[in-house]
Amino acid sequence: MNNHLLIYNTLTRTKERFEPINIGIVGLYVCGPTVYNDVHLGNCRTFISFDLIYRYLMHLGFKVRYVRNITDAGHLEGDRDEGDDKFEKKAKLEQLEPMEIVQKYTLGFHDVMREFNTLPPSIEPTATGHICEQIEMVKQIIANGYAYEVNGTVYFDVEKYNLEFPYGQLTNRQLEDLIENTRELSGQDEKRGRLDFALWIKVKPEQIMRWPSPWGWGFPGWHIECSAMSSKYLGNTFDIHGGGMDLQATHHTNEIAQSQACNHKAPVKYWMHTNMLTVNGVRMSKTAGNGFLPGELFTGNHPLLEKGYSPMVVRFFMMQTHYRSTLDFSNDALQASEKGYARLMAAIKTLDKIKPSSTSGIQLSGHEKACHDAMNDDFNTPVLIAELFEAASIINSANDGKTLLTADDIIGLKKLMHDFVFDVLGLKPQTSNTLNDKALQGVMEIILEIRKEIKAKKDFAASDKLRDDLGKNNISIKDTKDGAIWTVQE
Ligand code: AMP
Ligand code: ZN
Repeated sequence: MNNHLLIYNTLTRTKERFEPINIGIVGLYVCGPTVYNDVHLGNCRTFISFDLIYRYLMHLGFKVRYVRNITDAGHLEGDRDEGDDKFEKKAKLEQLEPMEIVQKYTLGFHDVMREFNTLPPSIEPTATGHICEQIEMVKQIIANGYAYEVNGTVYFDVEKYNLEFPYGQLTNRQLEDLIENTRELSGQDEKRGRLDFALWIKVKPEQIMRWPSPWGWGFPGWHIECSAMSSKYLGNTFDIHGGGMDLQATHHTNEIAQSQACNHKAPVKYWMHTNMLTVNGVRMSKTAGNGFLPGELFTGNHPLLEKGYSPMVVRFFMMQTHYRSTLDFSNDALQASEKGYARLMAAIKTLDKIKPSSTSGIQLSGHEKACHDAMNDDFNTPVLIAELFEAASIINSANDGKTLLTADDIIGLKKLMHDFVFDVLGLKPQTSNTLNDKALQGVMEIILEIRKEIKAKKDFAASDKLRDDLGKNNISIKDTKDGAIWTVQE
């Protein structure tokens, strides 16, 4: 196995040579979506980045168990275990049962992931499906002395934990600094320390999502689900844990503390974090209200968009920036990506037309090595893409008769493009854009209905003009005895 892979580990803040804990299988856990809402493009960036990482590990020959959870319980609005439960609140708004909300947005998430050609994870566990495991873990943390119960809610004792383990190590912060930057406890707070967080939360009387526990009816805190599910499926210490950078300071810091306090082991060897997708420099988020839905991007139906872009163009746009750099959304960048994506796809098609020569004008192995070197350097997709454009230039030049390629060169280039463009970057030829197709279908139905009304009023000049104007936009209309039919002319 060609394994010279370097991974940037957030925990050590260095690039480290990737050495799996168990040579048989690599464990990869990624924090999945909170399904009380549609995923926005920012969420998609993180999932697409980890899809790339999953794909490249498999390309290197590793067998990977990829676990990406669905958060379907235990997410409160406040960041300090206060406020309404997001699922219950949304359920009231949409007049649905909370699990109907979960089902609706889980299905929507899967549709979007399919549009972006992401591979399904090996296991997709839900928080609500693992309540017993979470309760067992909380019990163990209490038994080990790192948590306490107050009136049906269980809190993690951060200061106690920090006496033995560095609580803020993931973000390189000392406990004192963290405490200073946290609100003081109010008179009504049940917590002992300002940084303590809930492992199990007592329900309010009106709440529907509730489970019995040794501490009465309640529901799990948000962080415990990932500790419980990752250790269940990947073991108490596993290889890679990922998520967006916004999860480092609280969710992942608390996950480390919980798992360490429960199992007496550091849970993760390599922590990986993707940077944020931003709009005019501001992080895209559900709460900031600056989130594009993927569907809006595909149809172009959004005030900030000049037109729609196919899912593969959007995926390519994301791949052109390294996963640890911020990616700012812009029409110009997307338009450039559209051209770049078309250029790569055209070069792959051109390979079929090139006539082989008996002598070679290229060094294929150098290009293969450059592609691997780029990806082995912490998944450096922008450098990989520059190399693939280089290969596209060679293909175009060979097609123009300016560079000689042997039959083996052509086979080698096909494999190179196939491996890196399709298998690793996860792109595919975009045959049709289903969301755009659906939108066009809807618009054409409206137009044909209007034309029918115009014809019924015997305004044939207006109806012919409508037909001709559509024709100028490559949409041809044919009148039949059952009504009009339309087709897009290539
Ligand atoms: P959530 O559904 O909010 O729990 O987020 C799901 C995933 O998307 C998490 O891994 C977040 O870190 C990630 N995420 C949220 N906002 C962004 C963003 N603007 N850019 C990239 N990733 C994000
Ligand atoms: Zn998580």
